[in-house]
Amino acid sequence: ISEYSYVVVGSGLLGAVIAERIANQLDQPVLVIEKRDHIGGNCYSATDPTTGIEYHKYGTHIFHTSNEKVWNYVRRFITFNTYQHRVLSCYKNRLYPFPINLATINQFYNRNLKPYEVEDFMASLRQSQLGQRADGGRRDAQPAAGPPTAGAPTNFEEQAMSLLGRDLYEAFFKYYTIKQWQVDPRHLPPAIFNRLPFRTNYDDNYFFDRWQGIPEKGYTHLFERLLANRKIKVLLDTDFFEIRHLLKKDACLVYSGAIDRFFDYKHGKLSWRTLRFEQEIIDKADYQGNSVINFPEAEIPYTRIHEPRHLHPEKEYTGNKTIIFREYSLADQGDNPYYPIASEDNQRLLSLYRKEAAQLKNVFISGRLGDYKYYDMHQTIDRALEIFETCILPQTSTIHVV
Ligand code: FAD
Repeated sequence: ISEYSYVVVGSGLLGAVIAERIANQLDQPVLVIEKRDHIGGNCYSATDPTTGIEYHKYGTHIFHTSNEKVWNYVRRFITFNTYQHRVLSCYKNRLYPFPINLATINQFYNRNLKPYEVEDFMASLRQSQLGQRADGGRRDAQPAAGPPTAGAPTNFEEQAMSLLGRDLYEAFFKYYTIKQWQVDPRHLPPAIFNRLPFRTNYDDNYFFDRWQGIPEKGYTHLFERLLANRKIKVLLDTDFFEIRHLLKKDACLVYSGAIDRFFDYKHGKLSWRTLRFEQEIIDKADYQGNSVINFPEAEIPYTRIHEPRHLHPEKEYTGNKTIIFREYSLADQGDNPYYPIASEDNQRLLSLYRKEAAQLKNVFISGRLGDYKYYDMHQTIDRALEIFETCILPQTSTIHVV
């Protein structure tokens, strides 16, 4: 580490893209330090030895973007297959297309509505349910966190009910959200619901983006290609904080680990939601017929089942076994952070850490852990290119000119 003028902590997308740029564009040696025993961060993929099926260790990852710069950049390293993400939701043992679209509504209410009839139908549902509480007025139910549904929605539940009405909300969102966040939806901000699209046509594609797919040879291949330059040295199984004292003075440091850890948690710990995946090999060629199925009911403890064989329609998996992953959501488990939690306490801590980070020279803290922000992969790549172009590149040209 003491020999390197460029050090990158983390071999996830943020670290790998910046290391690639430093090696290929600046033609400089760069050291990548990774505490796990593999490259790729949370995008890591591998081939299951029993079934031969390519799977994503930290949860199904679909690449999708409308950002042309990112799409062109990433395709310089790999090719994508033609996979398009479509999700089903299993309610009362029946499968519905999800996110909610015209097929979901027609199937749920046993109708044959036309697109132009949906708005009126939904409005009449909402009207008939206005004033009814989502908990059906049960005695054990807690009082609503905000005012009743009339007026602007003040929480997740009110927001969802104002768009979908009670039946669809309870079937597909209420208990799913409780399982996911371990929080009453009335205590979540309305904005969380806004992220979920609702359609009045039969479009069941999960994403609206211009391009999507899965790397044909898996995500790990993308990282092997990004880190292929001989000027890039990757140190696996190495925690940066154990060798931090050896860092060369004035080295350019890109750090994609957790921001609170960087400052020794001096202001306190940021909290995270995490996931647990339970793996099972099934003696069937195809278990559920789709890559992801949601389980929104309270009685089923997991939120989703992933079956990765369906992510690669171009591959001919000939075996008669398949691999599945049941996904469980857990409240804060600091050692495996997945999703930032948007609470006021966390925002306050984050701004204290950001202030400290802004004082540092030649240190760039970013990525999902460093920015304490959920980024899709294309956003992470965009952020990495931005850091390289606006922070690292200009500094280097100055040094070269001097
Ligand atoms: P990471 O991938 O977490 O990489 C950070 C790396 O830094 C890790 O390898 C970590 O081990 C290492 N590190 C941390 N601290 C240290 C240390 N002290 N020393 C050494 N190394 C350290 N995006 C999509 O576009 N589509 C999807 O379908 C999608 N699905 C997702 C599903 C889940 C369950 C999750 C959680 C995310 C999903 N994402 C998806 C987002 C995607 O995973 C992120 O955009 C991406 O992983 C962010 O890359 P990163 O480099 O910022 O972080």
